[in-house]
Amino acid sequence: MTGAMMSDMPTRGVAFRIKGELPPEAKFLLEDFRLAINNTIRAGLRTRVTSRNALCKLLYKDLREEHPRIYAKHLVSAFEVAGNILKNYRRKLRTRYASRAPYVRRLMMKAENQAYKLDRENGIVDLPIRAWCHVKLELEVSDYHRRYLDDRSLRLGSLTVLPDRVIVAFRKEAPRPYAPESALSLDTNERSMDGIIVMGDGARAVKVDYQDITVIQQRRHDRRKRLQKKKAHDRRTSKRLCKREGQREHHRIEYRLHQVANSVLSFAENQKSAVVLEDLRGFRPRRNRELNRRLTLWPRRKLHQIIEYKAQWKGIPVVKVDPRNSSRTCPICGRIQDSRMGTEFECECGWHLDRHINASLNLLQTAISKGLEVAGGLRFNPGAFQHDVMMILYEPAMAARSEPNGTSCIGAVT
Ligand SMILES: [Zn+2]
Repeated sequence: MTGAMMSDMPTRGVAFRIKGELPPEAKFLLEDFRLAINNTIRAGLRTRVTSRNALCKLLYKDLREEHPRIYAKHLVSAFEVAGNILKNYRRKLRTRYASRAPYVRRLMMKAENQAYKLDRENGIVDLPIRAWCHVKLELEVSDYHRRYLDDRSLRLGSLTVLPDRVIVAFRKEAPRPYAPESALSLDTNERSMDGIIVMGDGARAVKVDYQDITVIQQRRHDRRKRLQKKKAHDRRTSKRLCKREGQREHHRIEYRLHQVANSVLSFAENQKSAVVLEDLRGFRPRRNRELNRRLTLWPRRKLHQIIEYKAQWKGIPVVKVDPRNSSRTCPICGRIQDSRMGTEFECECGWHLDRHINASLNLLQTAISKGLEVAGGLRFNPGAFQHDVMMILYEPAMAARSEPNGTSCIGAVT
């Protein structure tokens, strides 16, 4: 089991609208905070420093003088936000895609959990601006928000303030994952996850079909090309339109990925399954022509991220394994085929199976060899495997039922 994901507390960001206008003091604070971030970013680029502590040491005195009005704890939080932006920027530079020096445009501020108070009863944020000056922000509270506010096992993390809303991070003591009674092993592909659920010595093929995501992505790509051509004489407009278009599609894809993850996890939870996935982190694009592949890999990585994080929140065990050779190995005799095959995996020993499902079997075997234990043990009996009967955990028709209205933030979609 990957150590990193089991360690710290899972966090969920919940967005609340602010009732009425933001008080002018708070508006000044957002402006000050943004300025502090941008100054820190500039200094960080100059000195090649990114850690919060190093930035703090380097800049605290200067910024304290430049921003005498800002509460000291908020200033430290600005260092942290700037540090994260710098780290992301460095990472982008390493992959060698041209990237402009970062600069924060939108008004925002982030307060650490000791730097604000939230009245969970009445939904009121008490935000210190500086000594003797606090503002109160009244939040709009729906039933959805009540679930988080009233659950006292959830602790408060950071608070992000935007001009019209705040995002409260709720943290939870990670529940101990249950001891699995079955295993759901999934091979993640461009249009679907394919795999098996193994319980005792019975096994069923399962499919999670999200081909609509590829369609949305393709449409986004085509539209972008068309816009660029049409507005070729006006690069600024073209860029702005592309960006808006891109964000809308991006949200739609992300929303679907959440739904896909929910379907997989509620199935796993019902069957008391451990979820086995391949580790997609290994792939690093080295040449430009691999950029396309990198882009099509994005939804898969994102999907895994969402699954892992939701599973941690719910206490569902997830095991990630190295996918090397998983699509070329025969799970029965262990032979590794060297040629790429069609949709069907075939082996000299007589074994044949859908290529993707076959890969999921290999992922499961790797997981077991790495220590995945299932109550009662798992015995996979190829003869009893009913792969003509496919269990569909998700299909595009399930997404059509409810499209978001666009007001929810990433963390708020459940
Ligand atoms: Zn074989």
